[in-house]
Amino acid sequence: MLPFTRPTLDAATIESVCDVLRSGWLTSGPKVQAFERELSLILGNRPVRSLNSGTAALEIALDLIDIRAGDEVITTPLSWVATANVIVLAGATPVFVDVDPVTRNIDLNLIKAAITPRTRAIIAVDLAGLPVDRDALYALATAHQLRVIEDAAQSFGANWRGKPIGSFGDLIAFSFHANKNITTGEGGCLVLPDMALIPLCEKLRLQGVVRTSDGSMEVDVAGGKFNLTDIAAAIGLGQLPHLTAFTERRRELARQYFAQIDPAWGFELPLADMTQSNWHMFQLVLPLARMRISRGEFIAQMRLLDIALGVHYPPIHLFALYRKMGFGAGQFPHAEHIGAGTITLPLFPGMTDEDVTRVCVALRKTLLENLR
Ligand SMILES: *Cc1c(COP(=O)(O)O)cnc(C)c1O
Repeated sequence: MLPFTRPTLDAATIESVCDVLRSGWLTSGPKVQAFERELSLILGNRPVRSLNSGTAALEIALDLIDIRAGDEVITTPLSWVATANVIVLAGATPVFVDVDPVTRNIDLNLIKAAITPRTRAIIAVDLAGLPVDRDALYALATAHQLRVIEDAAQSFGANWRGKPIGSFGDLIAFSFHANKNITTGEGGCLVLPDMALIPLCEKLRLQGVVRTSDGSMEVDVAGGKFNLTDIAAAIGLGQLPHLTAFTERRRELARQYFAQIDPAWGFELPLADMTQSNWHMFQLVLPLARMRISRGEFIAQMRLLDIALGVHYPPIHLFALYRKMGFGAGQFPHAEHIGAGTITLPLFPGMTDEDVTRVCVALRKTLLENLR
């Protein structure tokens, strides 16, 4: 069975995790500090703090810019549900804006109409690793005095006009979940716009605790429990040296998918960005209107051919929680169309060229056998 993704861990990384286990220090310690130094080096020497998930990075980002009840935060309905859940958890109101059907990212041209006097921030998501237009995003944010949280969970290793995502901009949240391009098992980090935010970020990360010089401690904010372990950081330290090679291999696999999937078959293809995207995912939209079977059946038939597909994502505004808030079908037609038909093809650095060919042959067969 070819999975849609699988982490690539080398023997040295596995050995370094064993070293941590033998060291007697499992939680945040020297490996976390070293991991943060390496991350900062990759990200233009920006201040970076590691966290135990990408969701934690988004939650702390919202807290750092003081998003509270009564505030509105604009975001995309086509993302992992974490992107919107953190807005709800902060007590604020998510305001969805439909996606551009070509990039599948938030349509920046529609944001202006969604801004109200209560709008405080935009959470932009680089779906599948394709960067949102940073020039247009920050021009808009500056014009309307909005903060930007880049949900770059999927775009570590991607770049905007040659600048690494995370090396510029306001607040940038990365995830190192097992399925992401660089992993720590579970984990994430937050890139800060200003060194002055480090102390508050560190307090929010771990119970609000500040160590005092006399060996005691003080607490003046109710921080959470978001610190990364040294076990996880050791995995991350083993991953980072492979970042460029992983990204290049993913781009090469994406190129092969484009070369072997004939647009005439009828799948909707992703934007062919071969320089900026890190190709976190390669996603097709099924031509459901022309098919005799559902997406579920399509996925089941591909499974019989030993190929696992993913679904990323059902539109957030159609989940029960968001329907209860008043959202419903028909509001964001592009996100709904993509969300209904999207399938994620296998794509990870350990895949072979032959795997790509096998997937493409199976896709063609499964589609052509099931057209109306
Ligand atoms: C993975 C992901 C998250 C959450 O990251 P975790 O590390 O799983 O908490 C948030 N947003 C997007 C777009 C993601 O893909």
